[in-house]
Amino acid sequence: KQDELSLVQNRLPVWLEESKQLCDKGKVASYIPELAHAPRQALGIHLMDASGKSVSGGDCGLSFTMQSISKIFTLLLALMDNGEKAVFDKVGMEPTGDNFNSMLKLELVQPGIPFNPLINAGAIVISSLIAGGSTKEKADRTLQFFRTLANNDSLSVDKAVYESEAETADLNRSMAYFLKDNGVLEGDVNDVLDVYFRHCSIQVQCKDLARMALVLAFDGTDPITGVNLIPRRYVQIAKTFMVTCGMYNASGEFAIEVGLPAKSGVAGGILTMVPGRYGIGVVGPSLNAKGNSIAGVHLLETMSKEMDWSLF
Ligand code: GLU
Repeated sequence: KQDELSLVQNRLPVWLEESKQLCDKGKVASYIPELAHAPRQALGIHLMDASGKSVSGGDCGLSFTMQSISKIFTLLLALMDNGEKAVFDKVGMEPTGDNFNSMLKLELVQPGIPFNPLINAGAIVISSLIAGGSTKEKADRTLQFFRTLANNDSLSVDKAVYESEAETADLNRSMAYFLKDNGVLEGDVNDVLDVYFRHCSIQVQCKDLARMALVLAFDGTDPITGVNLIPRRYVQIAKTFMVTCGMYNASGEFAIEVGLPAKSGVAGGILTMVPGRYGIGVVGPSLNAKGNSIAGVHLLETMSKEMDWSLF
């Protein structure tokens, strides 16, 4: 719908200006020290339709790491490598209500598999399921998959963020050892974590997220090239997780206020889509108490309400 895109373009400066006011009320993540350097006042967006027409604004040229947004795509790769049965023998399908890095339910709720693939414990298990003869091959296959989806061969790992995360990941390490002891995680713990840290540290801009989201918005086929990249069933699974647990413990609220499948990351990115219409990438490093981009969520709420995009 070209008219809708022009309308978005006209309204965008006002929406951005209004949403940006919230940046001061949030905090940039600092538990991975390197992330603390991100600009707190930044807010950017890129929206792309099936013909490749785009609307973008604000700080859309900012580079940032995908962090938890990458978990959607490693899930898809693990499903393509292993099939549904093997993946869901090792991770569940339910939201937790706990923090993204919690290990509480790993011990309390049997059979001791992580509740879903989007919490850290689940995503680390997913990293262990990516096919490849070596850690390097697994990490390279993952990066290549992301490049293909983003249609951008220059995507790469932000080395500083990767090293910073690897150095400070005691909690993720302890979780991985716990999962190994439970027999859920197979392989060498440090190798699996290396794959995980690397995919979390892949650097993107909003346009990359928009293109990746566009593939999901069109059920696994890149509408611009016409190439099918992911089986429809797996995209359906990924989008469902995005609705039920993509926005941490604010997923219910996001479904009510925005009504679109989405995944956020601690670097302030949000990937979302209007299924069958647009892929959207947003960045705003200042986070709210639930860990989502404070200005980014507000921007998407405003847009979805004004454009009547909610799926529900
Ligand atoms: N790499 C981050 C971690 O494991 C991802 C967290 C996130 O974006 O939620 O802590």
